[in-house]
Amino acid sequence: ETPLLQVEKMTTVFQTRKGTVEAVNDISFSITKGETVAIVGESGSGKSVSALSILRLLENTGKVSSGKVLFNNLNLAELKDEEIRKIRGKDIAMVFQDPMSCLDPVYTIGNQIIETIKIHEDLPTKEYVERAIELLRLVGLPDPENRIHVYPHQLSGGQRQRVMIAIALACRPALIIADEPTTALDVTVQAQIMELLKDLQSKFDTSILLVTHDLGVVAEMADRVVVVYAGQVVEQSSVRELFENPQHPYTEALMRSIPRIETDRDQRLQTIKGNVPSLDEIPSGCRFHPRCQFATDKCRIEEPPFYNLGDNRLSKCWLVDPDAEIEISSPGTIK
Ligand code: SF4
Ligand code: MG
Repeated sequence: ETPLLQVEKMTTVFQTRKGTVEAVNDISFSITKGETVAIVGESGSGKSVSALSILRLLENTGKVSSGKVLFNNLNLAELKDEEIRKIRGKDIAMVFQDPMSCLDPVYTIGNQIIETIKIHEDLPTKEYVERAIELLRLVGLPDPENRIHVYPHQLSGGQRQRVMIAIALACRPALIIADEPTTALDVTVQAQIMELLKDLQSKFDTSILLVTHDLGVVAEMADRVVVVYAGQVVEQSSVRELFENPQHPYTEALMRSIPRIETDRDQRLQTIKGNVPSLDEIPSGCRFHPRCQFATDKCRIEEPPFYNLGDNRLSKCWLVDPDAEIEISSPGTIK
């Protein structure tokens, strides 16, 4: 099956006072129709930049400097500004972490949904209103006929995220990119929003690219996982295989950092020793080597290639090299 979205060797750079830095380096992954792919990694690993690069929503100093972003065989990286604007919101929609920053406080939510539809479709006025009400009903907002008249601040955080999802769905996109869609919400509401996204996905066969630091969300939502570290993909796998038998030491470390008790949720991913390197101080060889308990001299000097472990599993680590001279226990077996 041809993927709906195929990111090929994409590199994204930013101009900074210290010169040009790469936030995303040579990233490749794909999403098929109806699939949920999660990009997971610590904060600062380049996962949001990867997502924003797809729709070219980067701030002015950033741009995709090489590679392709094929969406239905159209290379989004090469489109003119007005062409990509037609795709945003219509074919590919985004849902962000903080709905308050995306919703306009001075317009009713009905108005904002209608404005989104209007950008892409020309309908009689009455139909816009009906569509807005229908969308709010679809995302489970109670009393949608009256709620279209309320302003964002009159809703709870969870309700605002439902409105954002309604806006994202307004034009029946083929792909929704959701960047930490539940991170700002409390645990119960998080679960409700994830349930809603899953429902809508099965109803419309929408593909979802989910950006998250939360492996709990990954386990709940994703079919496949792309693990990123310091701007690079380090492992790709089905969600089940990833949790059963991670094939990269970074993935292993992420797994180990999942707290066992709910009260520790905020500590997630903070227990890996050391920090994600800053963009202007990328380590030599394997970028994870300063934090990796298995690092060898080779790791410090030579960047590992991607090893294809079969079944769409990839790991960028010398440990899984089938031709390695020294037998090292695979990262998945070390506890
Ligand atoms: Fe660790 Fe070496 Fe594998 Fe990098 S290549 S993750 S440093 S073992
Ligand atoms: Mg982010």
